[in-house]
Amino acid sequence: MSKKKNNTNHIDYSSDKQAKIKEILRLLEKHYSDATTELKYKNPFELLIATILAAQCTDRQVNKVTPELFRKYPSPAEMAVLKPEELEKEIYSCGFYKTKSRNIIETCKILLSKYGGEVPRDMKSLTSLPGVGRKTANVVLSNAFGEDAIAVDTHVFRVSNRLGLANAKDVFKTEQQLMKNIPKNKWSKAHHWLIYHGRRVCNAKKPDCENCFLQHLCKYRNEGQVLEQSESIQ
Ligand code: SF4
Repeated sequence: MSKKKNNTNHIDYSSDKQAKIKEILRLLEKHYSDATTELKYKNPFELLIATILAAQCTDRQVNKVTPELFRKYPSPAEMAVLKPEELEKEIYSCGFYKTKSRNIIETCKILLSKYGGEVPRDMKSLTSLPGVGRKTANVVLSNAFGEDAIAVDTHVFRVSNRLGLANAKDVFKTEQQLMKNIPKNKWSKAHHWLIYHGRRVCNAKKPDCENCFLQHLCKYRNEGQVLEQSESIQ
């Protein structure tokens, strides 16, 4: 494969997609080597509940709520018997508290009746739980069980499509394309790198392109508009 020289990085990334992706990943890793989930949890159950609560909410806000929540209700057995109104009071500040409350209680009942009170560790079982979509399932599989997975949340969707790591209108296609473009052993880490970049530099409304270490590689920066998110993400 020919690699033309230029003044800044000696490789013409515009004509070598694989080299470009490799360089994007290298720089993301260099800048965010310590990136990890910001949600606080002690076991798969706590991560599952925290991730359900994090939909349309910040991790920081979820972290304010969950220590007391898990102290009072440490397992599915304690949470499953709550009335929705009781749980609503505990999680009110995370938003969408009525839906989240119903989903969490129902999820806990299913964990008890079908999975012996444990969180299942496969995509199909996880996504059968109320309030659990592919994003939440991938977060649990990756962080709680150490599986290779790319959870596509709003940051991952936006940043990966802006950078050109994906070119898709929906999260499922974005996930599939990222799995194809990123080496499997980097899937879980890349998820965290993209979130960190989305929070710190590549904001939704005002990306700080001037100060972005990926600007010379970025499709959005160099070619203009990219596809925007077309659905909410669970
Ligand atoms: S150059 Fe701009 S749009 Fe591209 S990744 Fe950086 S901040 Fe985001």
